[in-house]
Amino acid sequence: MATDAFGRRIDYLRISVTDRCNLRCVYCMPPEGVDWKPQADILSFEEIERFARVAADEGISKIRLTGGEPLVRLGIVDHVRRLLETSGIEAIALTTNATLLRRYAADLAEAGLKRINISLDTLDPEVYARVTRGGTLAAALDGIEAAFEAGMDPVKLNVVVVRSLDQDLLGFAKMTIDRPLHIRFIEYMPVGEVGEHSCTSAEADGWSETDHVSTDEILMRVTAEGAAAGLGELGAVERERAPGGWGPARYYRFPGAQGTIGVISPLSHHFCGECNRLRLTADGKLRTCLFSDDELDVRSVLRGGTDADVRALIESALASKPEGHNQQHGTVRRMSQIGG
Ligand code: SAM
Ligand code: SF4
Repeated sequence: MATDAFGRRIDYLRISVTDRCNLRCVYCMPPEGVDWKPQADILSFEEIERFARVAADEGISKIRLTGGEPLVRLGIVDHVRRLLETSGIEAIALTTNATLLRRYAADLAEAGLKRINISLDTLDPEVYARVTRGGTLAAALDGIEAAFEAGMDPVKLNVVVVRSLDQDLLGFAKMTIDRPLHIRFIEYMPVGEVGEHSCTSAEADGWSETDHVSTDEILMRVTAEGAAAGLGELGAVERERAPGGWGPARYYRFPGAQGTIGVISPLSHHFCGECNRLRLTADGKLRTCLFSDDELDVRSVLRGGTDADVRALIESALASKPEGHNQQHGTVRRMSQIGG
């Protein structure tokens, strides 16, 4: 079992398999886009799998694949299969915008993937096209259907709540009534540039306080709008009955609903004390905190060192993992270059 200097158990590794993406979400990428890393800088699947083997020996048992968009990387299905064959790795999850999921869902499920998180911030096709700078809502919705048809469980929908987007939160909440879909409203986080203008405006200059909505406000709105729409009273779900998760979401449910509504509050309610994770970027840097730009260079150790060197690097990451993020605003990397 791996613990860090503050006694936290670290058993969860998020791996970004690519910095590339087929969308350009306004809150994740700047309007001009980002320069993709050269192919030679990106870890090969073999390198990632070797790292995962050593990390599993060090106590990592859960892996999430993310990006950029993980489904744009060729060979992702067999990568999932091989990671699941790694001794000590108990489960793999994937975070995706789902626009390519129809193509891959059945194969991913056959490879052993069960847990999927789909990112979707609006149910309005025009707004979706604007927010993703060119995406098609129908493709993402079809991806959700493909996940259910492939038998994935749990299927979670991540909704980043951004004030200037004026999202229909009730519309999302209603999706939990008739099917086991778990909506998670996530606070907009100050990753990447920090600016003053809303991310939906022509002057967008990065994360701005004006776009941040606290989960207390989100819950108040969903509770009031749900009651007004006749959905009943939103009640808290006990931890043991919440959809299995590896993170800090708190879950709620409308009476009789098959799915749940979760909230994730990285800013308004710090959960650093429960942090259980490390992050590996596509270009092979290990981050001990989403908000800290201190990184350890895994790539050069993988390319020039032994497994013992890799192990030593993981141990030094555990020793240097900060206690908390102290409301840091802004990071050198954008979210698409970290993986969320
Ligand atoms: N492309 C995949 C996707 O969109 O699901 C995986 C990578 S994406 C960077 C991972 C998650 O980060 C998505 O759910 C996205 O909505 C979220 N995200 C991106 N920027 C964010 C921000 N500033 N605050 C909160 N969540 C953010
Ligand atoms: Fe791509 Fe995901 Fe970022 Fe949107 S949130 S631009 S889909 S990496």
